[in-house]
Amino acid sequence: MPDSLVIDLNSHRRNAPADASEPLHCRECGGEWFKLDGRAAGLDEAEGAVTLAGDGRVTGYCGVPKCMECGALAQ
Ligand SMILES: [Zn+2]
Repeated sequence: MPDSLVIDLNSHRRNAPADASEPLHCRECGGEWFKLDGRAAGLDEAEGAVTLAGDGRVTGYCGVPKCMECGALAQ
């Protein structure tokens, strides 16, 4: 996976403002569940991907979050 397309969540969490842990809501419909759209992030594949820690925590992802309710991209 090209580094430029990967969101490193550990780095994001270290640099995030204190109120950034609230759930993100889709700006179109208010939905809270997102799929990762790989093509919107520049991948050749339709689906994005995640990296995981040994305990199952998501530590990074590649893809643009896409609302499962209405399909709007979160970025
Ligand atoms: Zn939506």
